[in-house]
Amino acid sequence: MTPVLAVEHASKTYPGGVCALDDVSLTVEPGELLAIVGPSGSGKSTLLHLMGTLDRPSSGTVEVDGQDVSGLSDRRLSALRARRIGLVFQQFHLSDGLTAVENVATGLLYAGVPRRHRRPLAVAALERVGLGERTEHRPHQLSGGERQRVAIARALVNEPAIVLADEPTGALDTATGQTVLALLRELNAAGTTIAVITHDRDIAAALPRRVELRDGRIRTDSLQGVLG
Ligand code: ADP
Repeated sequence: MTPVLAVEHASKTYPGGVCALDDVSLTVEPGELLAIVGPSGSGKSTLLHLMGTLDRPSSGTVEVDGQDVSGLSDRRLSALRARRIGLVFQQFHLSDGLTAVENVATGLLYAGVPRRHRRPLAVAALERVGLGERTEHRPHQLSGGERQRVAIARALVNEPAIVLADEPTGALDTATGQTVLALLRELNAAGTTIAVITHDRDIAAALPRRVELRDGRIRTDSLQGVLG
């Protein structure tokens, strides 16, 4: 089976010389649900940016669906990202001027889905996250947990190879965070591949695979044990 994502020997040094990632290799197979966990400054966001093709490694490679993305132009990379990667952020990143269904439909715009198909697909995605009754609400009319569900629907609407969720419960109270995690587990059980980036060890402990970052290196991967 081709991995949905393969990061191989990736390092990232920012201008100024900070080495945020040091020789990181991580393979994600279809159907996985994993946590990438580590304290602040350990390199989680940097790794997320590489996995999401939002940034390029200083050395090493990133493959999405078996395709090395390093040779792609920015335009091709954007197109690949729009089709194959779903992103969920701590602060939801929804447009306040758009309804829930319009926000979700923006996930289809850049993937080149014709206008007439966008709305029904967006409604179906909102139904999958339990918001079939909230399609015409604007973000400010929704609770925090509901807003994150809209953002998850937007990430899912294209049937991406992988959903990358960056501290998806970070802006929510504990109980609401639990319901969002339960939703991610449910979506994974239905076949969606998901990586959750978190500093919260309790959240990580609840997920089937845990990859622990420390000082820009993978310290442990629960699939492989301690890596030194
Ligand atoms: P985390 O998400 O685990 O908090 P980051 O990936 O944000 O970790 O950061 C890893 C290291 O890289 C930190 O030392 C951070 O200060 C540094 N860093 C992150 N982004 C940049 C940047 N754009 N420019 C310079 N240094 C950065």
